[in-house]
Amino acid sequence: AHVITTACIDCKDGACVPVCPVDCIYEGARTLYIHPDECIDCGICVSACPVQAIYEEFRVPPELAHFTAINREFFDKD
Ligand code: SF4
Repeated sequence: AHVITTACIDCKDGACVPVCPVDCIYEGARTLYIHPDECIDCGICVSACPVQAIYEEFRVPPELAHFTAINREFFDKD
């Protein structure tokens, strides 16, 4: 799955939302989140994001690796 990281916090530009073919990007209080089980890894959102906040799960830089769990936990709460 793809993962939204720190650059989205308090940005929430939202350019990724309409380009996602499966509508799996959801809005939280301070950031957007990608549903890890709904994402089909098309990668379209990566280039749509104006602040380069989105990475494929296995390409998340080490310092941002905790965001993979943060994205999943947002949906696990539901
Ligand atoms: Fe949506 Fe594709 Fe981005 Fe996954 S990789 S969140 S399916 S646009």
